[in-house]
Amino acid sequence: MKNFTYINAKSIKDAVESLGKNWNESVVKSGGTDLLGELKGMIISPEKVINLKTIPNLDYIESTQDGGLKIGAVTTITKISESSLIKTKFPVISQAASKVASPQLRNMGTLGGNLCQRPRCWYYRENSILCLKKGGSQCYAFTGENKFHCIFGGGPCFIVHPSDMAASLISCDAEIKIYGRKGERELELNNFYLLPRENVNRENVLNPDEIVVEIIIPPPKNNTKSIYIKQSIRETWDFALCSVAVSMSMSGLKCDDVRIVLGGAAPKPWRSINAENELRGKMITETVAESAAKAAVNNAQTMRDNKYKINLFQNIIKSAILEVIKS
Ligand SMILES: Cc1cc2nc3c(=O)[nH]c(=O)nc-3n(C[C@H](O)[C@H](O)[C@H](O)COP(=O)(O)OP(=O)(O)OC[C@H]3O[C@@H](n4cnc5c(N)ncnc54)[C@H](O)[C@@H]3O)c2cc1C
Ligand code: SF4
Repeated sequence: MKNFTYINAKSIKDAVESLGKNWNESVVKSGGTDLLGELKGMIISPEKVINLKTIPNLDYIESTQDGGLKIGAVTTITKISESSLIKTKFPVISQAASKVASPQLRNMGTLGGNLCQRPRCWYYRENSILCLKKGGSQCYAFTGENKFHCIFGGGPCFIVHPSDMAASLISCDAEIKIYGRKGERELELNNFYLLPRENVNRENVLNPDEIVVEIIIPPPKNNTKSIYIKQSIRETWDFALCSVAVSMSMSGLKCDDVRIVLGGAAPKPWRSINAENELRGKMITETVAESAAKAAVNNAQTMRDNKYKINLFQNIIKSAILEVIKS
């Protein structure tokens, strides 16, 4: 690992003022569970590392006056998975949190870090390989090993977005609050993420001198039910091969409105508008759930090794829709 200056930030302002103007200069650390791997593997070698965990009052889960929630960026994934407030109001978020990595990683890992974690593509994580994302000239996954890569939104890089939390939060229409040198901004979490065709080097809209400070979740619509289903090779300590977050507001068995967000599918959490359109306004039956699942994979583009994702997605989407109406 290359030597760097370590700064314990005293406040959000202090953290932001310590940040440099480009990504090679500085990086922030929350739990460090992803960042330390990148530093040790020399995937990145910044001059400064700024610790956000020393900022007071960035670790909280609070109800808002309108019945929603706000969560501070350095709140741990364990705290989120154990919160009774979240379990009752937003089961999809609680279930996603409980499926992140392993208990040890959930104890250290924070919400901000989970949402901003870098991709797990094996070519990206190998420092001797200079692929497109790291400034090279080609994507090695496209012509090489692509078992864990995307089936939507790919090109010229084919990563999948790794965060379980992101898919679940987007299904609840969450917003993200960012603080930088130019001040504060808030945007829909769904618009926080970028596709490689928009920026092949970064996965979100953060500038080098900005940090995530809070996630805001609006109150759920009437009679909203939600669920998170994840398939991975191992039960624990593993990223999603395929996952789905469903949040559905219902009148009896009729779907009034719905969000379906896929994980392990695309370079960003992938809202399946096709599947949502198959459900909105309809009575939910097995046949309707099946056509939504089929619609979700209609425009998938597979590569040599990831064709299995089509069936896996169809199955988990159908199961999630049928499970959610029973909950
Ligand atoms: C073996 C293993 C298995 C895993 N399995 C899963 C899984 O199944 N599901 C899943 O969702 N995740 C998984 N993860 C990822 C893990 O959840 C993340 O490493 C963790 O959530 C990141 O949180 P952190 O606080 O440790 O982030 P850090 O490691 O501190 O930071 C991660 C990245 O985010 C940036 N960052 C951190 N905080 C902020 C902020 N507030 N604002 C802006 N940028 C920020 C850092 O600069 C860094 O680039 C796994 C990780 C490992 C090592
Ligand atoms: S998928 Fe992206 S990160 Fe992986 S080799 Fe291709 S360009 Fe690099």
